[in-house]
Amino acid sequence: MKKFMGIAASSGIAIGPALKLPKFDLSFENQTIDDVGAEIRRLQTAVMASKNELIKIQHITQKDLGSHEAGVFQFLVSILSNQMLIDQMVTLITNQKVTAEMAVTTVLRAYHERQKQAAVKPVSDQQIHEVMQRVLSHLLGAKPIEATALNQQAIVVAHELSPIQTAQLLPTMVQAIVTDVGGTTSHSVIMSRNFEIPIVVGLQNAETAINNGDMMIVNGSTGEVIVKPTSAQLEENIHRQREYEQQLHRRIRPVGQTKVTADRDRSLLAANINDPADVAKALANGAQAIGLFRTEFLYLKAHQLPTEAEQFRAYKAVLTQMGEKPVIIRTADIGGDKQETTGAFDDQMNPYLGLRGLRLSLTHQSIFRTQLRALLRASAYGKLSIMFPMVTTLHELRVAKALLDQERIKLLSEGVAIGRLKVGMMVEVPVVAIMADQFVNDVDFMSLGTNDLTQYLLAADRGNEQVADLYQPENPAIFRLVKSVIDACHDHQIPAFMCGELAADPLAIPILKGMGLDGFSMNPAAISYAKQLIDRLNTRRMVTLANEVVTMAADQKQVIDFVHQATANGHATYK
Ligand code: PEP
Ligand code: MG
Repeated sequence: MKKFMGIAASSGIAIGPALKLPKFDLSFENQTIDDVGAEIRRLQTAVMASKNELIKIQHITQKDLGSHEAGVFQFLVSILSNQMLIDQMVTLITNQKVTAEMAVTTVLRAYHERQKQAAVKPVSDQQIHEVMQRVLSHLLGAKPIEATALNQQAIVVAHELSPIQTAQLLPTMVQAIVTDVGGTTSHSVIMSRNFEIPIVVGLQNAETAINNGDMMIVNGSTGEVIVKPTSAQLEENIHRQREYEQQLHRRIRPVGQTKVTADRDRSLLAANINDPADVAKALANGAQAIGLFRTEFLYLKAHQLPTEAEQFRAYKAVLTQMGEKPVIIRTADIGGDKQETTGAFDDQMNPYLGLRGLRLSLTHQSIFRTQLRALLRASAYGKLSIMFPMVTTLHELRVAKALLDQERIKLLSEGVAIGRLKVGMMVEVPVVAIMADQFVNDVDFMSLGTNDLTQYLLAADRGNEQVADLYQPENPAIFRLVKSVIDACHDHQIPAFMCGELAADPLAIPILKGMGLDGFSMNPAAISYAKQLIDRLNTRRMVTLANEVVTMAADQKQVIDFVHQATANGHATYK
């Protein structure tokens, strides 16, 4: 274990493996060349490749960080698009027989000097350095650091980090950044604060003392960096991390100040999947996230319980395919109509009301721990949220989270990388929906499971056609309860999602939108229609519609007629 003290620059706690940014030797010899034509082609290829990379980064930055940050890259692209500069490089190669490396360096340095003399906004040292380095790295065959270089969550360790490197790193899987040099007001630090990524700067000699893959704890609030921590330190910091994140939620907007977390006009459209093979379909249909991976199907398909390695492969496959898009993986919801055939669990007299979902997991803890370990190990490969199904009491939720923490500590002590992950719960048992405000402090998000919520609330089996007319997902009571759950989430600044079938119901979507639901997760095939519908809705009018629905009599017919009428009029619903 080693401890370093640096300057706390961006608060938060991160625990993960070190990733040292590779350093490239971009020095070159000043030779004369024989083949002018070949050298000019080398130059043009390197300039073109650099320009294309910068354009790509500009687009990514625009999406993730906004126009201001993207403007930096646009400016860098403009330097490489400046034909006068390229012509000067070509002339140098032709007349003086210098290498492309020499031509690039000479011309860009001279350009930089001229810019500094001019009264116009000068190119900064860093910007010219970035352009030069990028072209040189292509000429010399060294790969520049790219956003995509991080295919696993990690703590970036660098001697120094330019704002340009930081802008590329931030939208990726970086958990924290530590540097030997730098100040608390540097551009890199300011950008990282927006991303809520802990940063410690000024560590002086940490970079050489830390090895790639070393487990680290970075406390961006105190400046403390621990390398190869003990189990006790890991445990303590996992708790601190949770406390910090909870405080952050409360600090951003005090309870009651606003009932909206996300931009009301933006809703996340996500897919429900049962298998990693479904991800391609989800993406092809425009899914922005996986809102529900029903992992029980891994258990239902096989005749024996899936091993940790098999589960890890499945979860990792989903996460890597989704890249930077969020993925909610639900722990196994075995039971009800989803009976597995391994014989590991007893049959239930009344399966929907018996040992099902989290209840079953908590009574078979070693099976549950295997799943949690597989999930934790996979978390390093994307943006994972773990979700517990069929939660009924706060006690169950806390036991599940404690087991998750225990496995997390064990894995971290073994040196296994674990990503920054969120923990959420399904709201599908009526008692939880009614008492949602008692659960919100313990989770990062809630997801409404209206398939079960409907059957439990109306006491009508979701699979029994004889009571199909009583199984009413559009009953005003459901909407009333859904609204109270969304409000409870928003009062505590956590998002409310829905992954029950109601989220894909064209009649319900306007109402849910009006209630401020943050994410709709559904069968991939339903996404494009739902998106078209949501894009056309007038959110303000939907709020009125939703408020009306929750006052209706306890029958879904009234809701259906009312929404049909409102949408038929068009003007009452659409923009
Ligand atoms: C639900 O109950 O709404 C839900 C999404 O879970 P499942 O359908 O898997 O029970
Ligand atoms: Mg359910």
